[in-house]
Amino acid sequence: MLPARVPSADDASSDQDNRIAVRRGGSKVGTEKSDTLIHDVPAGWARRAHADAAKYSSMYASSVSTPDAFWAEHGKRIDWIKPFTKVKNTSFAPGKVSIKWFEDGTTNVAMNCIDRHLARRAGQVAIIWEGDDPAESRHITYAELHDQVCRFANVLKSHGVKKGDTVTIYLPMIPEAAYAMLACAQIGAVHSIVFGGFSPDALAGRIEGCQSKVLVTADEGLRGGRKVPLKVNADDALKKVAGIVKTMIVVKRTGGGIDWVDGRDVWYADEVAKASADCAPVEMNAEDPLFLLYTSGSTGAPKGVVHSTGGYLVFASMTHQYLFDYHDGDIYWCTADVGWVTGHSYIVYGPLANGATTLMFEGIPNYPSTSRFWQVVDKHKVNIFYTAPTAIRSLMGAGEEPVKQTSRASLRLLGSVGEPINPEAWDWYHRVVGDGRCPIVDTWWQTETGGILISPLPGATALKPGSATLPFFGVMPEVVDASGAVLTGACEGNLVIADSWPGQMRTVYGDHERFMQTYFATYPGKYFTGDGCRRDADGYYWITGRVDDVINVSGHRMGTAEVESALVAHQKVSEAAVVGFPHDIKGQGIYAYVTLMSDAEPSGELRKELVAWVRKEIGPIAAPDVIQFAPGLPKTRSGKIMRRILRKIAEDEVGALGDTSTLADPAVVDDLIKNRHSQK
Ligand code: ATP
Ligand code: MG
Repeated sequence: MLPARVPSADDASSDQDNRIAVRRGGSKVGTEKSDTLIHDVPAGWARRAHADAAKYSSMYASSVSTPDAFWAEHGKRIDWIKPFTKVKNTSFAPGKVSIKWFEDGTTNVAMNCIDRHLARRAGQVAIIWEGDDPAESRHITYAELHDQVCRFANVLKSHGVKKGDTVTIYLPMIPEAAYAMLACAQIGAVHSIVFGGFSPDALAGRIEGCQSKVLVTADEGLRGGRKVPLKVNADDALKKVAGIVKTMIVVKRTGGGIDWVDGRDVWYADEVAKASADCAPVEMNAEDPLFLLYTSGSTGAPKGVVHSTGGYLVFASMTHQYLFDYHDGDIYWCTADVGWVTGHSYIVYGPLANGATTLMFEGIPNYPSTSRFWQVVDKHKVNIFYTAPTAIRSLMGAGEEPVKQTSRASLRLLGSVGEPINPEAWDWYHRVVGDGRCPIVDTWWQTETGGILISPLPGATALKPGSATLPFFGVMPEVVDASGAVLTGACEGNLVIADSWPGQMRTVYGDHERFMQTYFATYPGKYFTGDGCRRDADGYYWITGRVDDVINVSGHRMGTAEVESALVAHQKVSEAAVVGFPHDIKGQGIYAYVTLMSDAEPSGELRKELVAWVRKEIGPIAAPDVIQFAPGLPKTRSGKIMRRILRKIAEDEVGALGDTSTLADPAVVDDLIKNRHSQK
């Protein structure tokens, strides 16, 4: 079990020992960023955290030189039904990629997240739920969590769900989302969560992809005082994929009016009330799938990322403990949605495996006011706070006052995830939110990685704003050039990972070939992250963004292909190309170049129609900010759209288009430039 954190003078913000010293990076950091500020680890942190610099170095060294011994030891952090005797059995070899960890061990994830804590923590709060309405919150103890999860597990069984079946979950941020996930884990069913902001089409595609017999949803969600019509969307989705879902289990969240299909729809509360609170966790192999989660689909159809039982949980819980410096008694809050992988690993599985108190927030950062996050921090005495740069940037826009109205004295550590955090936002987060006393862990990872791969350890790593810093135990990042040559020292190129770690995805659901093609074919023998990065002279990693084209709007990532295919689905559109452009609030905005059918006329009306169309097809987050009607798009002779040119035009950098010589028709560029919608 985790060592309890002994409250000490170190906790006081006034303690000299805990103050973060800041120095200039100078030439140490490399030529490009010679003005980088370095925030040293305060002495108090080095003493009290799970690892200081020396411990990080020695643990990291053994994790990569003797991974079997290292993970044999740390694999024991979870309880096993039948202990593993094998540790690592992985291969990235071309055409033969196979990833197995702890492969002869058996366990159960729900047992690790709930049952094993009951002896010591039955009365401890497992989940603090904070509603959209500030007047609503609930505290759910481990004993109640156990009761709720067992009951819902029995409900699923009564509707025919068996080990290995998939269950689709389309819920808002309410405790039932966690109950449903854990109930699946308890009986060995595989959950597939679809973000509540996704449209009926997106939901339908994901249900079809994994053939779920059961869908768990709510009448309506509630976000920022507004209702989200989940049941209406779910009904629509099921019309598109008739015959797959046999049972829709509906949580009553708002009591709003909904349609009802007798024989298919049942109320969550009615079912749970009838169910027994006795349900033994099913014995699962370490390699049995725990969940699948569809990516945003930057390269074609969304992929069902499959995560395992044993390795995933070991990795999620260990990263949660070390990187957030989690100690017994801490109140921990990750603001992500359970529809994203961050919600899986760092709201539910990692924290609960560690016996933590995890906060689940239904609302949004600016409702009822832009002080909301900090009011919640004060209300629940949150110690560890984990959010995304887009939230920070949007709150920055409201100034310091809404933050300063609150105390935030309980905060000890801040985290960031989702995209590179720009140094201005980092500084504001650190100085204004954390009053200069909380380290920031900038955590780089992906849906595919299951848990955080590159991040500071707060007691060990000096911080450089904008850098995710150093690899976690067992993670072997490399920077390669386009030809795959491994670069050394300070360099810039593409980020690959040279060997497996326990939390790595195991396959693409139903398509192992696609898994190998997508992640292991670009640089044979290595996992390709798809991200570009720079490594400085201190060995720190700076993620520069995607190598391919994905837009990140307010932390929601979507493939340009998905937005484009929605646009061309409109009868008046013949072709579309979508790129991101810098947006003060959202991080990136969506700029769409649209070529119309010859019989259609460009108009303001049609522009509005297309925006509404994309909202309906994918969801509001995908609505284009700019639509430029374009008679032609810049294409290579082989017919590929040259996005880098479109990106430059969208960014208003028309003097720096680069090489246009391979274009089939360079004249189209002049028209695009002339008719661009300047963002300046
Ligand atoms: P898809 O693969 O379908 O496009 P996605 O990559 O958009 O899905 P995620 O897996 O949630 O969805 O996002 C992972 C990506 O987010 C990383 O590859 C990286 O580009 C970016 N990212 C996440 N955290 C950080 C961070 N701390 N710093 C820089 N970039 C980050
Ligand atoms: Mg990705």
